[in-house]
Amino acid sequence: MLKVMVIGALGRMGRAVCGAVGAEDDMTLSAAVDPAFSDPKARDDFGIGGVPAYEGLEECLEAEGADVAVDFTNPSTVFDHVMACLERGIHCVVGTTGLGEEQLEEIERKARSAGANCFIAPNFAIGAVLMMEAARMIVRHLPAAEIIELHHDQKLDAPSGTALRTADLMAGERPEAEAPPGPEGNPARGMVHDGIPIHSVRLPGLIAHQEVVFGGRGQSLSIRHDSITRDSFMP
Ligand code: NAD
Repeated sequence: MLKVMVIGALGRMGRAVCGAVGAEDDMTLSAAVDPAFSDPKARDDFGIGGVPAYEGLEECLEAEGADVAVDFTNPSTVFDHVMACLERGIHCVVGTTGLGEEQLEEIERKARSAGANCFIAPNFAIGAVLMMEAARMIVRHLPAAEIIELHHDQKLDAPSGTALRTADLMAGERPEAEAPPGPEGNPARGMVHDGIPIHSVRLPGLIAHQEVVFGGRGQSLSIRHDSITRDSFMP
């Protein structure tokens, strides 16, 4: 049995992960961490009886072992969580977005020295990964492109980690000479990342959606992915 600890267990994604881990035959939810467990009602409502619940990761790590820690928290805490888990040889699966380049490099060094693995991905939905791969292929032929990402209004970061990653992948494939100059100085034209404008929409009712629009002579091509429920991130 793989012992899985979930950090951010009371959040939108954390709850879904706790449910998904609990439903697997070869995994067990060994501990749940979230400062919101300070509210006794949250503890009662958690609904996964018998799972030890902690308000802080340090306290949890002192008391519990785990093979894998899954982090779905926020950009200001995720780095410390990952470093603390790797330090103890606990493998990490990180869905939290917003880690910077330097932090990623430091995490990689820590994982190597601790002999633990760390998987970090801005989007766990296979359809979104395929959308990014398709965008990478299409941009070689249609280099003028813009990204529109749409998320629920509680999302903390903008643009999304998925949009930034998509732009990075596209920039790596786009023929340099054919890359149109990114629009500068007009917020209505989006935030330019690696020369690709990204437009962020935040509205209630949405989950996670992204469209990549390519333009060419007399034609346009759009690819779009929609996560309709958080179940899309679980497999
Ligand atoms: P959320 O706000 O619903 O949940 C975050 C949870 O983390 C909250 O319950 C909060 O109390 C908890 N938390 C805050 N500080 C903590 C700490 N120090 N220790 C433990 N828990 C702490 O957010 P969400 O919608 O679940 O999203 C979480 C992250 O996952 C975001 O960065 C989001 O962009 C990302 N995300 C990634 C994917 C993916 O596929 N990789 C999909 C959806 C969302």
